Amino acid sequence: MKEIVEVAVGLPVFKTFHYRIPEKMKGSLQVGMRVLVPFKGRKVTGFAINLLDQSPKEIEEKLLEVEDLLDEVPLIDPQMLRLCRWTADYYLYPLGEVIKTGLPPGLHLKSELILTLTQQGMEYLAQGGSEAIQQKIFREIERCGKVSLKRMLKIFPGEVTKSQLFSWMRKGLLNIHGAIEGKEIKPKFERVVKYRGGEAVRPISRKQAEVLKWMEEKGEVSYSELGKTFKSPSKAIRSLEENGLISISDREVCRDLSLRPELKSYPKPELSSDQEKILIEILKGIHSKQFSPFLIHGVTASGKTEIYLRAIEEVLTQGKEAIVLVPEISLTPQLLSRFKDRFGENLALLHSGLGKGERYDQWRKIWKGGVKIAVGARSAIFAPFKNVGIIIVDEEHDPSYKQEEKLRYHARDLAVVRAKQDGATLLLGSATPSLESFYNAENGKFHLLSLPERIEGKPLPRVEVVDMKKEGGLLSEKMRRALQKSIEEKKQSLLFLNRRGFANFILCPDCGLTFKCPNCSVTLTYHLRDRSLQCHYCDYRVPAPGDCPKCEGHRLRGMGIGTERLEEELGTLFPGARVGRMDRDTTTRRRSHQQILKRLETGKIDILVGTQMIVKGHDFPNVTFVGVVSADTSLHFPDFRASERTFQLLTQVAGRAGRGAAFGEVVIQTFSPDHYSILKAKDHDFIGFYREEVEFRRALEYPPFSRLINFRLVGNSERRTKAIAEEMGRIAQSLLRKRYQKGMEILGPSTAPFAKMRGKFRWQMLAKGKSVPLLHQFAKELAIRLEDGTKGTGVNLDIDVDPVFIL
Ligand code: ADP
Ligand code: ZN
Repeated sequence: MKEIVEVAVGLPVFKTFHYRIPEKMKGSLQVGMRVLVPFKGRKVTGFAINLLDQSPKEIEEKLLEVEDLLDEVPLIDPQMLRLCRWTADYYLYPLGEVIKTGLPPGLHLKSELILTLTQQGMEYLAQGGSEAIQQKIFREIERCGKVSLKRMLKIFPGEVTKSQLFSWMRKGLLNIHGAIEGKEIKPKFERVVKYRGGEAVRPISRKQAEVLKWMEEKGEVSYSELGKTFKSPSKAIRSLEENGLISISDREVCRDLSLRPELKSYPKPELSSDQEKILIEILKGIHSKQFSPFLIHGVTASGKTEIYLRAIEEVLTQGKEAIVLVPEISLTPQLLSRFKDRFGENLALLHSGLGKGERYDQWRKIWKGGVKIAVGARSAIFAPFKNVGIIIVDEEHDPSYKQEEKLRYHARDLAVVRAKQDGATLLLGSATPSLESFYNAENGKFHLLSLPERIEGKPLPRVEVVDMKKEGGLLSEKMRRALQKSIEEKKQSLLFLNRRGFANFILCPDCGLTFKCPNCSVTLTYHLRDRSLQCHYCDYRVPAPGDCPKCEGHRLRGMGIGTERLEEELGTLFPGARVGRMDRDTTTRRRSHQQILKRLETGKIDILVGTQMIVKGHDFPNVTFVGVVSADTSLHFPDFRASERTFQLLTQVAGRAGRGAAFGEVVIQTFSPDHYSILKAKDHDFIGFYREEVEFRRALEYPPFSRLINFRLVGNSERRTKAIAEEMGRIAQSLLRKRYQKGMEILGPSTAPFAKMRGKFRWQMLAKGKSVPLLHQFAKELAIRLEDGTKGTGVNLDIDVDPVFIL
């Protein structure tokens, strides 16, 4: 009998912990189950990751006991645990937190410290004798009855500290105790009634006979349906059950109201010969039952999605499962209904737009083996399948596959790892593969497959570049003429501008004042609709002033344009046209994203203005013109991937044009018409772009010729953050001298490009090297040596392995 369990807690701690297994759980506690364990005076959810006969020697102190067993069967199977272990190790992140990332929310019970006022505290408040802040806090606790300590620190940042609260507790004014907060999400059941028939033992009433007859036709119905047909049927139902004529039971139901895609039919086409050729290669991989990685480089609308569908069909016939990753934003109704049409109910969807219950149910469908296909955004890589045959990553270059907070994993990279671990086929697809993936393909790590032409030989759109140095105003002559033509021909246009709001910032021409976010080192964007100034990073907002608050000048003016202003301008330029806008401001409501696309699809919009939301995943045959208002926004980003990102955006957005019968046209406006990102995008020349970019990366030893780890320090105090950054630099240099001299380089520490963000000060240091194990070793040592220095300072170290953007 195993005595001890090793537990990874769902908290930001690296170590795992050992607990004694109480008698009553012996035999039932298994690896992969959730347990509730005591932890630093609280109770937290952890995951059993190992069972041992006795406690490890080095742990001398008396072990605590597991408090509660939360599962009857393991939630996490050994394969998933293996993937999580790899992830934790690679991204230098606590295992418990990694496991948690893979699970739907609502499975983590945790006790929190809860504050309540004591009798004495209430009297104290009533007397009003305390200082203002104490009054404010006590009043808040009184108002809520009880409130968690965490929440108090959040609503009164900087005004109250934990130790202050505890000192009030010691004075007898507050109670602080641990209690389990929140509700665990559980499967949802509904009561169903089933017709059984047969002879009645006892005579039945007229109403019962009526219900019974109806039931005979229906077979099985839910209680709620029954209630809609008959008035208060409970009594009749109970008698019928006693009579043995019907049975009552519970049936698990799926909460999936917000993700019913439109049912449309997409006839299954004959494959083109190009498609046929590459599918044969992929099928060979699938049949080999071994890890078979492919990169499909296929221009926009070349039929990649159809290839995915066929490959999945094959995997299903082998009794295996499929995971399909798509960028969050392109989880459009179109893609979903195409999958639904082909695979019916055999599908689970995982993305952040779902409610908690819905997400849990989708996850559970996979976990129970009820479906064989999971489609979702990055977290779907943790879909709890047991027998994965294929993993597909659509638009594999997309930066949204990288999670930019907490566990900073890259779903495409994890897809490679999982496919390898599970011996599955891997399909990475894109019109603009990432440099890394294409480099891997060139070096034989991935098998390269190409779809160089659009389906049915449709030409790629013609792209023209306009030099804005020679133009005045917002829209060039060429752009205006193209829009005009498209309107006259009753076609549709997309206009891409990667900046929302009305004006980029406002400026007083008399004294030069601009408005900065108090929390972030950026200027505030002017929004016309609610006449506000907003920060796009922390959502800080204030009413826009009429006059300059500094010199009282009357000439405040907006500089730089955003989508809101573009929309307005188009209304003036083309009075008859119906202009729509899709950006974060117009898509805050649930489903509004889909509604805008629907309006475009049904021809109710002539020109759709949008940020990068319009770039991906849509297929609208009537869109013939695409305009890029400013290609410079992404080009001048302070990041070594700026050129790549620009090329990708331009190619993808241009790819939206001319997908139907009519020829597509694209106009790109820029102040850098000679930049290779722009020239190569103009010629639809990915390979040409790749050649130039890869030389640049080689020369500067950037990925794929090196690996990077970014160490970022984020803190409330500018002074302390800087001091710790300097300390980090010293440690790094001394480590470098001792062990890492060869094969590694350190850049920084220096302030991050956005030195302040959401009220926190940011410093960073970049480690660059060729050997992954060496870099990891260095990162671990650095983190350990820095740990003491950061404790209690409010400065946190955030390690980003293979950062996508170093901002
Ligand atoms: P991609 O994923 O490369 O953008 P899709 O698979 O979406 O390309 O294909 C683009 C369009 O062509 C879609 O409308 C799709 O239904 C259609 N299509 C794909 N393959 C074929 C084919 N073999 N014959 C006819 N139409 C096809
Ligand atoms: Zn801000």
